[in-house]
Amino acid sequence: MQHVLRLQPDNQTAISLLEQIDNLKSKPKQLINMIKYPIVKPVLPELGKYQRYIESSFERCWLTNKGPLHQELEVRLAEYLGVENLMLVANGTLALQVAYKALELQGDVITTPFSFAATAGSLKWQNLRPEFVDVDPTSLNLCPKKIDEFFSLKNTSNVNALVAVHVFGNPCEVDRIDELAQKHRLKVIYDAAHAFGSQYKKQSLLNYGDASTLSLHATKIFHCVEGGAIIFKCKETLEKAKQLINFGFDSNNNPQYTGINAKMSEMHAAMGLALFDRIDEILQKRQALVYEYKKQLNGYLQFQTWHAEGENNGAYMPVVFDSEQSLLSTMQHLTYKGIQSRRYFYPSLSEVPAYGMHGDTPIANDISRRILCLPMYFDLSKSTIGEIANVIKASFRDEPA
Ligand SMILES: *Cc1c(COP(=O)(O)O)cnc(C)c1O
Repeated sequence: MQHVLRLQPDNQTAISLLEQIDNLKSKPKQLINMIKYPIVKPVLPELGKYQRYIESSFERCWLTNKGPLHQELEVRLAEYLGVENLMLVANGTLALQVAYKALELQGDVITTPFSFAATAGSLKWQNLRPEFVDVDPTSLNLCPKKIDEFFSLKNTSNVNALVAVHVFGNPCEVDRIDELAQKHRLKVIYDAAHAFGSQYKKQSLLNYGDASTLSLHATKIFHCVEGGAIIFKCKETLEKAKQLINFGFDSNNNPQYTGINAKMSEMHAAMGLALFDRIDEILQKRQALVYEYKKQLNGYLQFQTWHAEGENNGAYMPVVFDSEQSLLSTMQHLTYKGIQSRRYFYPSLSEVPAYGMHGDTPIANDISRRILCLPMYFDLSKSTIGEIANVIKASFRDEPA
């Protein structure tokens, strides 16, 4: 910031920025104390349970490299989720990157602008070119009709893959995307970071596409502090990816591919195992919280329309406002009351210069400006939701709650 000031001593923006920073410097403690209800809060296992896993790891002195905890979690997760060919990795972003590498993605990749930075960022990181196609305004997922239009209107000779996101856990139009993938010979990767436990036609949503990736980050439904997983359609791709995450080594420790290190450690797997028995309880509670929010806020705000073949997994609580101004006003009311909220996802990834800005996506850009995520975590209570809903309702009357 000082750099900016030196170059432009009388620049109004730089000065106001500096003022803001000074304000923040004097208030960090106050700001932290002000948060009564955070936007997310990791769910924690009983400490003793976690300790017992760590102790077993100490006794073996086996800390990483496909240890017994890693192996146990991998097997149990695949079974729980109802999938085959699941592998654990160090985080959800590496899960995407390793999936792209294993499936040999090249050139231009169709993707959604309405997602977290990692979806487009992981593509750019591997010198792939994100081609943003617009979303459906109600499901908030990549729109199959727009994908088809994209192929009829644009030069798509360099497009051979599609990365879609089950936004907030809501299933994409997977059957339609399958058809399009066959028609246009696309490899399909689903960023399923939000879709832990999401079902489609009473089966795991993770069984669609050539690969689906999960994030097991502390803020997600189920977590390993940091972690991720990839579910491949094909066993051969899985075997290759297992080599890729360990420097590309084959069984003789010779590098067969250009690999990377994306292994999950035993300490991280221990967290997953310690939480494992609570997965059902966590999902049920979160679903009940979403239900409560919707009951309280019905008629005041718009909600994402869930796929008719699935059920909300309670990953997030997004609400859509009529205008950005209305969102900002409510956000301010919430902040005053110590209720954290988050503009998620904002901005639309197609408006971020770093991701190349290829594609015309007015719907995603508009939704991004009007969508807000409300506190959602296992420890939240129904009465807190009532409190939060009252602040929101009062904000519409522009009254203090
Ligand atoms: C959290 C998230 C990721 C990244 O996962 P990490 O485990 O944090 O690396 C990727 N995509 C989406 C949509 C996410 O929400």
